[in-house]
Amino acid sequence: MLKLTLATLSFIVSTTLFVGAHDEFSKPDIKLETKLDAKGKNVYYMYIDGIKVHETNPAIQSQPVVVTPSSVVGKAPSDAIVLFDGSPESFANWTDTKGGTTKWKLIDGIMESVKKAGYIQTKQSFGSCQLHIEWASPKIAKGDGQKRGNSGLFLQGTYEIQILDCYENPTYPDGQAGALYGRKKPLVNSCRKPGEWQSYDVIFHRPIFGDKGKVIKRATFTVLHNGVLIQDHEELSGATHWRGPHAVHGYAAHPDKLPIKLQDHGNPVRFRNIWIRELED
Ligand code: MG
Repeated sequence: MLKLTLATLSFIVSTTLFVGAHDEFSKPDIKLETKLDAKGKNVYYMYIDGIKVHETNPAIQSQPVVVTPSSVVGKAPSDAIVLFDGSPESFANWTDTKGGTTKWKLIDGIMESVKKAGYIQTKQSFGSCQLHIEWASPKIAKGDGQKRGNSGLFLQGTYEIQILDCYENPTYPDGQAGALYGRKKPLVNSCRKPGEWQSYDVIFHRPIFGDKGKVIKRATFTVLHNGVLIQDHEELSGATHWRGPHAVHGYAAHPDKLPIKLQDHGNPVRFRNIWIRELED
């Protein structure tokens, strides 16, 4: 427990009062509590933003849940839902968009998109989440711009993080690898060479809809591409569907949870090691 001297407390209180002269966001919310200990001495406790500071009693302040990280960097931690780990069982977590068997291929523990087979989607539905996915464009780069190693990761089956071979392959920035398609270009281009494995780590908070489909909260995305930050808590103003040459759709209310989708854009893009952790909204 924290025991503070009166001198320390008066310093904190006076500092708080001084900072409080500015605005409410420039200072923590501090509350003090005094109790007598067993020897009849005053003990001072402090609450900052509603948290009892340095409290070790789990009945008052619960401990964070223990999650065991993988012994291999990038692999699923103990509380993740594994969507694809190379096994036939995990490949069966994916269907075509009608819930039928997908024509995508499972080759040596790798999932590969097949031209004209259509998108695939998870059997399970998800809302806000942390998602890890690894992908590789074809080793031999064919085509230019959007025609080279194109696929896509769709959160809630609706919001696309572009997958594209953007190694020395210029295209419109809002459509390059890691773009929120048609809406937000990535901060930087951290693409690896064609054929090399690449990762996306995504923190996604779903949009929240109220009465009559009114948007109460927009979706936000944080994305790391090969460990490099490319979307920094970006807020999306609508869906990312392609229409004409643009992605101009606004939000349309949808269920709180929907499948994750991966795009067949006609190029054989490969996938491995996909896992997800559900988050609070
Ligand atoms: Mg795409």
